[in-house]
Amino acid sequence: MKKYVIETWGCQMNEHDSEKLSGMLANMGYLEIDSREEADLVIFNTCCVRENAEFKVYGNLGQLKPLKMKKRDLIIAVCGCMMQQEHIVNHIKEKHPFVDLVFGTHNLHRFPELLENSMQQDNMLVEVWEEGGQIIEGIPSIRKYGLKAFVNIMNGCNNYCTYCIVPYTRGRERSRKPEDIVEEIKKLVENGTKEVTLLGQNVNSYGKALEEKIDFADLLYKIDEINGLERIRFMTSHPKDINSKLIRAVKECKNVCEHIHLPVQAGNNNVLKSMNRKYTREKYLEIVDEIKTIIPDISITTDIIVGFPGETEKDFEDTLDLVEKVKYDNAFTFIYSIREGTPAAKMDNQITEDVKHDRFNRLLSILHSNMQEINKALEGKILEVLIEGKSKNDESYLTGRTRSNKVINFKGDKSLIGELVNVKVTQGKSFSLVGEIAE
Ligand code: SAM
Ligand code: SF4
Repeated sequence: MKKYVIETWGCQMNEHDSEKLSGMLANMGYLEIDSREEADLVIFNTCCVRENAEFKVYGNLGQLKPLKMKKRDLIIAVCGCMMQQEHIVNHIKEKHPFVDLVFGTHNLHRFPELLENSMQQDNMLVEVWEEGGQIIEGIPSIRKYGLKAFVNIMNGCNNYCTYCIVPYTRGRERSRKPEDIVEEIKKLVENGTKEVTLLGQNVNSYGKALEEKIDFADLLYKIDEINGLERIRFMTSHPKDINSKLIRAVKECKNVCEHIHLPVQAGNNNVLKSMNRKYTREKYLEIVDEIKTIIPDISITTDIIVGFPGETEKDFEDTLDLVEKVKYDNAFTFIYSIREGTPAAKMDNQITEDVKHDRFNRLLSILHSNMQEINKALEGKILEVLIEGKSKNDESYLTGRTRSNKVINFKGDKSLIGELVNVKVTQGKSFSLVGEIAE
């Protein structure tokens, strides 16, 4: 039996693409292992949202060279978002010519054929499609974690935020048909999945080009009816497209969790405009107010970029002020990274690395102290938890997530893994909760 290793960088979309590659490989009789040394095939599924992720891929490719020299029939394949950029493919051809196969995000479904073909030839096989056509249904996938599963509801993005490479690597926005999504989730539930996360770069614009008149809120109501499914999550919700109908759907659908990931990116209107985000700070705060009024126990998380070109100290302080006003339950924080080919890369008022790092640290300290405060206020509350496994730090503890997506650790028997239980919070820490199973 041939063995493969797959290493994935980046977001949930990439993780799910790797699950599809694993599904196709299982059909071809391959076995997944951890060790590059013992593998017949090594696949890197890459991310290019920030420069750091690219450096890591190049570093890892460099490490593969001696292995390839030793084991000539080892196949090295590189795919994912980085490969959608011509200058990167050229760099790989020049600096890492020992790579056997390069393919992109739009032709993932062609992987079995590409792999076969690359085995027949000595030179690097490169096949990257510029645009994705119709969404290909029915690609097998092996889910990393049966209890929880990612489900793509749409591909691509039409928003062109000026810092972001995604619209260039994932193509135009295309929604999957609701019946295909529901069918996929029903099958997952039959196989033991209790929680799904619906994925899209902007789920709030779901359904726009479909024949059937349907929006994201309608889709949530449909999925909420699936028997046996316990929890529905979704990401990402673009603030420019969120509406009252969706907020009501989150409130009304019994299985939709009380958590909205609502990336703000910045708290200053000039920066937001320059980012092409299409909402103002005031509009964003209005949405947050509406969400908190309709769903008081909602957890709100976000993405924030510091050091966007032209961001002044005063602009950055507006972001800190917004963070204080919203009081986020968690946040993904990013230092702005120049992405070749995006409009922001050409802006001439780039911020120095020192300033970016200083702002980043100041932002983290406020976010973390707010998170500590929010989690402390949960002490004494009883929350529903989906138990995911044993805690990594202490095997006598179980770990799971609340509906608000907070990690909680508590003592309990491993036979409870996979169950929904009520847990009383005994301690709120910045990044997690500690609790005990409630009577
Ligand atoms: N579609 C999602 C949205 O609009 O919120 C985000 C998807 S993107 C893969 C995830 C996050 O990466 C973005 O929300 C943004 O904060 C961050 N990001 C994207 N491009 C970046 C860049 N050039 N530098 C730093 N962070 C970046
Ligand atoms: Fe990138 Fe903006 Fe699209 Fe999100 S909405 S993927 S940040 S372009």
